[in-house]
Amino acid sequence: MVKTIVLMLDAFRRDYITSRNTPFLYGLTRKYGLGQLKQHFGFKNTVGFYTGVHPRKLGLFTNYIYDKKIRAFPYSILLSPFPGKLKFHLINFFNHLQGNDMSYPSINMDYFKYFKLKQKKHFFQQDSIETLFSVFKRNEIGYLFYDFPFIIENGKSRIHYTFRNNDEARAKKFLKLINKHSFYYIHLTDLDSIGHKFGPKSSEIKRTLRKTDGLVKEILSNFDLEKDNILIWSDHGMVPINKIFDLQSKLPGFGKDYIYFLESTMARFWFFNKKIKKQVLSILEKHKDKGKILSKQDKKSLKIDFNNNLYGDEIFLLNSGTLLYPNFFNNVPVKGMHGYDLSDRNETTFLIINRKFRKQAKMEDLFPTLLQLMQLKFQSKIDGKSLFRK
Ligand SMILES: [Zn+2]
Repeated sequence: MVKTIVLMLDAFRRDYITSRNTPFLYGLTRKYGLGQLKQHFGFKNTVGFYTGVHPRKLGLFTNYIYDKKIRAFPYSILLSPFPGKLKFHLINFFNHLQGNDMSYPSINMDYFKYFKLKQKKHFFQQDSIETLFSVFKRNEIGYLFYDFPFIIENGKSRIHYTFRNNDEARAKKFLKLINKHSFYYIHLTDLDSIGHKFGPKSSEIKRTLRKTDGLVKEILSNFDLEKDNILIWSDHGMVPINKIFDLQSKLPGFGKDYIYFLESTMARFWFFNKKIKKQVLSILEKHKDKGKILSKQDKKSLKIDFNNNLYGDEIFLLNSGTLLYPNFFNNVPVKGMHGYDLSDRNETTFLIINRKFRKQAKMEDLFPTLLQLMQLKFQSKIDGKSLFRK
């Protein structure tokens, strides 16, 4: 039986592959070439892989939206004694029990009640659109997705608990699970957290690259590099932070006439009257050297021109390399970030397939490419194109 293995190496920049830091991956690129993968703008980076469509088509762009409702999380009181990160582990566990395997990214709890997730369920839990999972189901392909912390096996999921929350622990667990299936997927995540914490040029990144390269080698030793199908890719790059911008201290108080969501690369605003809108826009205007208020045309070219304001009435996007801090995610300023306007080549990521393939790719091309590799067909109208055709 021919097996298929997909390795997703989170936040792995294309230029991370070198003979010194990643000798195994480098060897693969000598043989098959190194593809250049264009990521989606925003924070829904894997949509194209799962569906073949650009996230815009599914109304997706980033995680949290505001729908004019303020809601206390049902378990808020029970959660109050726990520290922030642990609160979110518990929230995500409750969420899993309710059949929603899309984790809430951990944010400042003070703002949590204003926002909700746009995508509530993992793609394997969605029946309304065609996904890799629905194609596998239709064709009776046995699969195992290790999309940390979820282990998804033929439509059923469970959470993998580990106190050693690192890629070695994840790979070890995954290797134990390799047996009878024909499709395998593993998501390694250390490069993302290390890239944020120490920056993409740090010695910590180099060390993590060597470790990741070793894990890729170890995982692939269970597969036949000639006969099996192998796809290795990443969801986005990592930009070094060279400037920090504190916008929050310059803004009027949150909540009464307007609200905002502070991501690390952008501030999104919802205004409740014209006066406050004018006031906030004039503040943003004064900081044109740090970023820009996205025009209609900007939104169109970034593919976030939605016909609703769930993601905000206005978005202020920072220049590549400038970190918005304070923001809702970070407790300390980070040294690496992604989610800028994609003009920076540090956001470029990579792919490798153990076949002859077109080297310029978009995220949504991965879906038809993978299915062609597995000799499976999709039925829906998609945006991506297989990398095996001209
Ligand atoms: Zn990240």
